[in-house]
Amino acid sequence: MNNHFVGRLLAVFVVTAGLSVIAPSHVAAKIVTDVDAAEAVNTSVAFGTAKADAGVATGSASLTPAAKRWQSTKITYKIDSGSSYYRSVWHSAVKKWNHSGVVHLVATTGKADISLSTSNSPMGNCGSTVGITYSSYYNNKTLNHLPVLVSAKSYVFKNVASHYHYSKTERANVAQHELGHALGLEHNVGRHSVMYYATRDQSVSKPDVNGLEHSYR
Ligand SMILES: [Zn+2]
Repeated sequence: MNNHFVGRLLAVFVVTAGLSVIAPSHVAAKIVTDVDAAEAVNTSVAFGTAKADAGVATGSASLTPAAKRWQSTKITYKIDSGSSYYRSVWHSAVKKWNHSGVVHLVATTGKADISLSTSNSPMGNCGSTVGITYSSYYNNKTLNHLPVLVSAKSYVFKNVASHYHYSKTERANVAQHELGHALGLEHNVGRHSVMYYATRDQSVSKPDVNGLEHSYR
């Protein structure tokens, strides 16, 4: 990273927000309610203090809270997966958020704001986290009192999703949840939000669109 870039950023915090696994009702036990991997990763000492914001759920269920946002409502993305199955999972998540009419996610072949990917969980098949999003943002630039995002990368953990028998629709819901984090949204206290910390069968709903409208107003 060159000095000019470092100077512009001043400090970047890298944060993570994961989605906990929830087992379907017909599978006995293992409804894991463990909260998100709130592990902070400091990219460089020069970038200042690392800060974790994962797992935060505050306020009203009717308005999904936001902790960050992008500069513009036009946001670029790239699907970084060789699997046509997962490309389709991510495409459906992109479509869902675009349907809100608030943000306009546009595919790019160049450097994207948001990267959408899949991998196996480093915690193994039985990990409690089925998706995760890393993001970085400016610490000296805000819009509507929200730090402006620099980059985000979301993952669906395919080994965990398979282990807990997630259907394709349920994996798409996980993808929607992670993309919600990549757009700056936090967890909603209510189960009817896709941003509920352990959602499985919920997709983008009114509180989520309200939250997006509020942060991108
Ligand atoms: Zn989450």
